[in-house]
Amino acid sequence: MKCNKCGKMMKYSKGIKFNEYSIDGWKCSCGEIYYDPEQAQKVLLLNKLKKEVLKAKLGKIRSNLILRLPRDLEHAFSLEKGENVTIKVEDDGFRVVAA
Ligand SMILES: [Zn+2]
Repeated sequence: MKCNKCGKMMKYSKGIKFNEYSIDGWKCSCGEIYYDPEQAQKVLLLNKLKKEVLKAKLGKIRSNLILRLPRDLEHAFSLEKGENVTIKVEDDGFRVVAA
């Protein structure tokens, strides 16, 4: 990728700091940085979600309760059907951790 500022070729780098996350992107010797748009979007979505109180609905399939997660969560954490998550019980409820 070419730098818009100085025209030099940019170097693909992993683990560039973006907010409090590390994502991939392109760095130029002039100091210009381009972030991987897909990863940057996820970070922005995560930051947005952190400020919100998310609601989810419980459903039931046969005898099992299922937790329906908001779509934004699915995208922010790249969750997919069939994936395993970890559940941690805490004093005030439980926490679902994307593995
Ligand atoms: Zn540059």
